[in-house]
Amino acid sequence: MALLGCIADDFTGATDLASMLVGAGMRAVQLIGVPDADTAVPDADAIIVALKSRTAPVADAIGESLAALAWLQRAGCQQIFFKYCSTFDSTPAGNIGPVADALVEALGCGFALACPAFPANGRSVFQGHLFVGGALLSESGMEHHPLTPMTDANLVRVLSRQTEATVGLVPFATVAQGAVAIRRAMTTLKEQGRRYAIVDAVDNADLLAIGAAAAGHALITGGSGVALGLPQNFRDAGLLAVLENPGALPSVSGHAAVLAGSCSRATLFQIGTARDHLATLELDPLAEPDVAALVSRAMEWARGRLGAAPIVIAASAGPEKVAALQAKLGRDAAGALVENAMAAIAEGLVAAGVRRMIVAGGETSGAIVTRLGVRKLRIGAEIDPGVPWTFAEGSGPSMRLALKSGNFGARDFFMKAFAMEGA
Ligand code: ADP
Repeated sequence: MALLGCIADDFTGATDLASMLVGAGMRAVQLIGVPDADTAVPDADAIIVALKSRTAPVADAIGESLAALAWLQRAGCQQIFFKYCSTFDSTPAGNIGPVADALVEALGCGFALACPAFPANGRSVFQGHLFVGGALLSESGMEHHPLTPMTDANLVRVLSRQTEATVGLVPFATVAQGAVAIRRAMTTLKEQGRRYAIVDAVDNADLLAIGAAAAGHALITGGSGVALGLPQNFRDAGLLAVLENPGALPSVSGHAAVLAGSCSRATLFQIGTARDHLATLELDPLAEPDVAALVSRAMEWARGRLGAAPIVIAASAGPEKVAALQAKLGRDAAGALVENAMAAIAEGLVAAGVRRMIVAGGETSGAIVTRLGVRKLRIGAEIDPGVPWTFAEGSGPSMRLALKSGNFGARDFFMKAFAMEGA
């Protein structure tokens, strides 16, 4: 029976949370999209439903989140976690407030804490203000985000704009006193009629204390960091065994490949490093802006090279080339061209026997997972922070997948991933 049910508002965020839970001792399975009513409940301690609701119309985000909640409740989950971005990505219209309101109402719990802090990644909350590294959220670059510009770092104000309910604060002075003080402060806020409490946290000890304070809460909302302390509550209650390797995955054999569609700096460095060690094909969508041509070039190149060593196929390019393709085709069409090509290449590689695959890029991962018909990922060991190996199952063959948000991972990420035991 699953213990913790999670609803994540985007795909790589879901994986990040799942990886955190495995690290803290839970067996975790990620389901892609709202599961069908007849989807079998996976054998896991935590189930994470990955939605694409962060920037969806508010009504759609609410509808999908409630459908995910209903499924997770039927699966027996005792506590629900609503996962959003550690930079609180949202607009005055939502979707964090409206989705949280709907979940609070459906659960009848009247209250939920809200804590996006993730100190290991530089996100901390102090006096209700969210910092990214040393900068206020509103001066961190996030104020220029194309979809969810964050121009106010005061989360009590930000969340208040998204809900009819009132929002309180558990300040750092209380958090520093530990779990009992935090729990008492949350109870007082609830009794005062507040539906939410932004909770300060600047390091992992704070997150562990907040997790302990939230034992028994029907709903918790936050970034993946606040999940750190939750498994211990279930162990304390005798519901979760101490597992030697909660990230154990079935072994697979087959060819190995990297598909990169991210143009983020970290990925460009990783491709540069891989070039010296692995057979690498760099596609040029600007010179050849045609899905079929890109796919046949990649498949012809791959044919003789699939074997003992991993291969790398990258569409990634620096800012000038990306801008040139976008100027030629338009932003959306340029993205779709490359995503469609990478998805078709992934399909071709799986047909050719690839069973271990790394995908670089959030949107690219979404396109590939959809094309491969993957609906379920069992979460394995972490390769680099936020990126685990997974075991993917769906309409196609079972395989190992590592889905990397563009900016994640060290320079030698690809080699390191394939060198891991069982990978
Ligand atoms: P990240 O996680 O780094 O944001 P994504 O995969 O989410 O990576 O986004 C990268 C986007 O850039 C995708 O839509 C991809 O199709 C597109 N893209 C990849 N290579 C190129 C290129 N050479 N020119 C233009 N766009 C590209």
